[in-house]
Amino acid sequence: MQYEAVIGLETHIQVRTQSKMFCSCANRFGAEPNTLVCPVCMGYPGVLPVPNREAIRQTVRAGLMTRCRIASYSKFDRKSYFYPDMPKNYQISQYDLPFCEHGGIDLEGTGFSGAPLPRKTIGITRIHLEEDVAKLTHFGHVSGVDYNRAGVPLMEVVSEPDMRSADEAYAYLTNLKEIIRFGGIGDCDMEKGQMRCDVNISLRPVGETKFGTKIELKNLNSFRAVHRAIDYEIARQAEILDAGGTIRQETRGWNDDRGESYLMRTKESANDYRYFPDPDLMPVAFDEKELAELAASLPELPAAIRRRFVADYAVSEYDAGVLTAEPELAAYFDRAARAAKNPKAAANWIITELLRLLGEEKTPLAECKVKPEQLAALTDLVGSGAINGKTAKEVFAEVFATGRDPKAIIEAKGLAQLSDAGAIGEVVAQALAANPKQVAEYKSGNEKVIQYLMGQVMRLSRGRANPQVVMAELKKQLSA
Ligand SMILES: [Zn+2]
Repeated sequence: MQYEAVIGLETHIQVRTQSKMFCSCANRFGAEPNTLVCPVCMGYPGVLPVPNREAIRQTVRAGLMTRCRIASYSKFDRKSYFYPDMPKNYQISQYDLPFCEHGGIDLEGTGFSGAPLPRKTIGITRIHLEEDVAKLTHFGHVSGVDYNRAGVPLMEVVSEPDMRSADEAYAYLTNLKEIIRFGGIGDCDMEKGQMRCDVNISLRPVGETKFGTKIELKNLNSFRAVHRAIDYEIARQAEILDAGGTIRQETRGWNDDRGESYLMRTKESANDYRYFPDPDLMPVAFDEKELAELAASLPELPAAIRRRFVADYAVSEYDAGVLTAEPELAAYFDRAARAAKNPKAAANWIITELLRLLGEEKTPLAECKVKPEQLAALTDLVGSGAINGKTAKEVFAEVFATGRDPKAIIEAKGLAQLSDAGAIGEVVAQALAANPKQVAEYKSGNEKVIQYLMGQVMRLSRGRANPQVVMAELKKQLSA
């Protein structure tokens, strides 16, 4: 039997804010456990939550960037349950009136396998805002709980079950992460738990329109794990169905080391969270003016930036993809390209030299001493023949280390390229005089030896001679 997979994703994303969702504790990762806490985020009875305006604004911006309809009237609800990561026994979330609904993300690029993707839009059912829960860490027979994370603003992005393969899910997550990062809404660092993903997946025979029984997959710690888990689950469910079995509705975990999913719990009935409007929090209303302001604050989407780079700066689609891997890098290239005579040369220089040095020195781009205009100036100097490529690398390393202007470095070190035929002619004459054996070989027909002589001239000129002029001078003098 041929099956079609039906996949929907629920993605939790921490919103980047100064303070937590309902208290003034810092929203910061990496502090000593339980040092960023107060009675509100510890869930003490009788405290009053105060909503974080910035978190709401950022959630609405996420909705606008994914073409959602924004609710003019919304509210927060209590979702009741009992768990050590949620000491007040309810989580403040949104139930029937989320901030954003009915949006979509266009799939761009390729999936994890590199195969081309169908052109399609993945529907966004809703984006709501809630508070994160505490983080549990298990040490053998005991567990630690860190409430620093409790109360951090958390968006939940729920997709429609529109994906049909692991590659589509991978691309959706990549595109969603880009939008959130380019929007400055969140950092989406999965290793820090800032982006977490659950997968709903079912199979149905090709041609069937009814959904099969779905499995929920949890504990997926990377996009790659999502991809692997989906492929694994498709094969597992197909085997059960082919053998005449039935799929039970259940929640499964993913063990990435073993490369297999495992049963966590079977759902006998839907959880009853007893949602009700939080009586401590006022409903949230947006007026047209506020929404227009938020819409005006939206940045260019990464997919649009890539198209613009290809159209305006003549870079390849692949290079445009590399240059938009991070919002900071895209902005850097944009500035360099505007300043450079040849934007494509600036792109090459960023992709090869700049990214290599940043990687080697473990320097984030934000701390890079090379200004985009300096990088552009350097590529212009190579383009005009003022310096050759080898010298340019030396100069660039110096700009990278000191932040000095390329022109100043070239002048101070006397690195300008020699293109004057007269001056080069003198160096060529010196090299020929010093290597009579090779000159004789050349004259007796071994023309390859000219490369050796070329090397001698470059060495004598300390790499500054213009290679084309050297070659022309060598041929002239050797045939004289
Ligand atoms: Zn707090």
